[in-house]
Amino acid sequence: FQNTKEFAAQKDEQDILKSYREQFIFPQHQGKNKIYFTGNSLGLQPKKAKEAIEQELEDWGTYGVDGHFEAKTPWYSYHEYFKKNLAQIVGAKAEEVTAMGGLTGNLHNLMVSFYQPKGKRVKILCEAKAFPSDQYALETQLRFHGLDPEVALVELSPREGEYEVRKEDVLSKIQELGEELALVMIGGVNYYTGQVFPMEEITAEGHKVGALVGFDLAHAAGNIELKLHEWGVDFAAWCSYKYLNSGPGSVAGIFVHERHADNQELPRFAGWWGTPSEGRFKMEKGFKAAYGADGWQLSNAPVLAMAVHKVAIDLHVEAGLKNLLHKQRELTGYLEFVLNDISEGTQVNFEIITPKERGSQLSILTHGSGKELFNKISAEGVVADWREPNVIRIAPVPMYNSFMDVYEFGQLIKASI
Ligand SMILES: *Cc1c(COP(=O)(O)O)cnc(C)c1O
Repeated sequence: FQNTKEFAAQKDEQDILKSYREQFIFPQHQGKNKIYFTGNSLGLQPKKAKEAIEQELEDWGTYGVDGHFEAKTPWYSYHEYFKKNLAQIVGAKAEEVTAMGGLTGNLHNLMVSFYQPKGKRVKILCEAKAFPSDQYALETQLRFHGLDPEVALVELSPREGEYEVRKEDVLSKIQELGEELALVMIGGVNYYTGQVFPMEEITAEGHKVGALVGFDLAHAAGNIELKLHEWGVDFAAWCSYKYLNSGPGSVAGIFVHERHADNQELPRFAGWWGTPSEGRFKMEKGFKAAYGADGWQLSNAPVLAMAVHKVAIDLHVEAGLKNLLHKQRELTGYLEFVLNDISEGTQVNFEIITPKERGSQLSILTHGSGKELFNKISAEGVVADWREPNVIRIAPVPMYNSFMDVYEFGQLIKASI
């Protein structure tokens, strides 16, 4: 790597994904694209999104209720169009995934089935500083079962003076909890530090002590390589508006491992969309779950949100998961290089706390006047994310960010210091 404009321009020229930048709408700053580094919070809008929503509105106007079967993309089976691509993105079989609901609601719903405290086995293991919504979900699940979160919720913290949770600490905590452990529920990629947890090993260790294992993949889906089926993960949930560019609050997704696909004995909070599609309109008494992840669906498909999700997911798979991962390593590596280059020889006032096991995001711990630095670069057209008390999260995403974005970002940081 070189911290020069020529080098960045050359990398962009060689980038096989360069045309995808043109497929997205960038917020503007003084007539230029903003340096948008918050795809980990809300991905940019695909240009085709508008047309996709307009198509559904038109079909709604034309067909009314008959759009369920007559629309260009019939609404009745809309959730089925995602299976193949979502399965690729999270490393699953098609029957193991479905697009539905919202992330937190889905987590609750899955825990109804997969968190069943019994006797001594009541504890849930999660990471310290989990995303607040996950903390609230876990805490209230425990209370729902009459348990005290102070006792039954076990949090994994980094060691004193460190930022990442060490793998050996996760695994030994699982062993230590042993038969008291009912569920491991961790964010696959920590939203704050950007650490990728060793999901395969955590799953194996959890299963060894007789616990079930689920992951929140909000920051993982569309960001890192996932092999949920192969790893044997019991369940997972993610949202689609971060790295999957499907729009604010858009439809989320779930994974349920094949081994649970046909288990009619699992407790569920069910809805009509969770029954096999053939018999659904018979409106018969008595819930029978559809095979696989579909058996957790509740409501009919939110088509307007799904229309954008479809455009975004199709683009993602078309760009190619391998290509995206390759560019991601380069782009994030370049950002790291540029930041280190700038901090050398100056008064270093920031530090990258994201470990090497990472996706697109680098979290920068700022010492001293971090908020001022953040405000300065924001005023210059950078969209980054400030987390109290002193962290700037930056996510150059391979889908639409460029090496020039990274170079220019570096120049702005340098000038601001
Ligand atoms: C973004 C995010 C959420 C948001 O949950 P919603 O239900 O989609 O509002 C939850 N958990 C994690 C880990 C997240 O990163």
